[in-house]
Amino acid sequence: MQKDAAFIIMGLVITMRNRKDTRAVKIKSLQIGGQEKVVLQTMLKNSPKNVEASIKEIRRYMTLGAELLRVAVSDQEDAKAIAKLKEETGALLVADIHFDHRLALIAIESGVDKIRLNPGNIHKREHVEAVVKACKKKSVPIRIGINAGSLEKDVLRRYGKTAKAMVESAKGHVAILEALDFYDIVLSFKASDVPLTIAANLLAADIFPYPLHLGVTEAGMKRRGTVASSAGIGTLLYHGVGDTIRVSLTGDRGEELKVAKTLLGEFGLYKTGKLISCPTCGRIAYDMEKLTKRVEEYLEKHPTDLTIAVMGCAVNGPEEAKDADVGVAGGKNEGLLFVRGNVVKKVPEPELFEALVKAIKELESAS
Ligand code: SF4
Repeated sequence: MQKDAAFIIMGLVITMRNRKDTRAVKIKSLQIGGQEKVVLQTMLKNSPKNVEASIKEIRRYMTLGAELLRVAVSDQEDAKAIAKLKEETGALLVADIHFDHRLALIAIESGVDKIRLNPGNIHKREHVEAVVKACKKKSVPIRIGINAGSLEKDVLRRYGKTAKAMVESAKGHVAILEALDFYDIVLSFKASDVPLTIAANLLAADIFPYPLHLGVTEAGMKRRGTVASSAGIGTLLYHGVGDTIRVSLTGDRGEELKVAKTLLGEFGLYKTGKLISCPTCGRIAYDMEKLTKRVEEYLEKHPTDLTIAVMGCAVNGPEEAKDADVGVAGGKNEGLLFVRGNVVKKVPEPELFEALVKAIKELESAS
């Protein structure tokens, strides 16, 4: 990574960053920032007061790799229910607070592990100070979550809805926390506009020493949400920015976590098993999509550092995927198994999946 290179985006000169340089913030045993690892998080669909459903969600998302789970705290019942969720699951929970700082105080009493405050709707300095003091007492970090859609009026008046406005909004709140000698801070700068999200985070990474939580907000349904998140979060990850991510999709959270893991995997930040497959063409002579789906499901349960290829034909497949660690190229009645660029053997078509899995296991045990 060229740390000293500078570039211009939306008129701002940005210096490349290294995520190891951000401050390490501890959420119990989990660290955000100050390391190459990027923490995976998501948010519950149920409110905490719906205890049974929330517990079910938490357990499922933990199984899918979520390390931190955010819950929307809308009233006192939600804030108090956090204690039960923690007792039942042991999960690390973040309380998402809007408008009423007292809910943060109750959530902290209930044992929440991190607080997310939106400066756009908790305006009074003494309210922020009360939360900071309670957090300090219990070593609970705070994420200051700046959202382009809910910036303070005076900030909007001065800077418009820009990256600078988002960063200026954060500066005011960071100053309140620092004045109280509080530094366990995570920052986020979210917008539904991808270039604005990128610009705000790059600018923030240049100014603040604190770890950044990345996300494109209101990203949409699966297709747009995946593309927008990959473009926004991916660009930032590539530039060494971002310490924790949440991919937001309208729909199943399981899909969100799969997209997030795949995205991190592309940058070598998560062990997923990279599955490459050709787009197919007129040379295809077998049901490649069915085999690819089967391999994808296998890799979800058995993550690996290897790159796996499923190719459509034996004519070009092994050559086109010669950088893969292991792969198959199907054909009529039989296909080829290849390992690190070399064709190993011919395999009857119905046995391709098993042959591929066996080769993956052999490579893994040899490494
Ligand atoms: S691997 Fe074969 S089937 Fe797939 S795109 Fe290339 S030539 Fe077509």
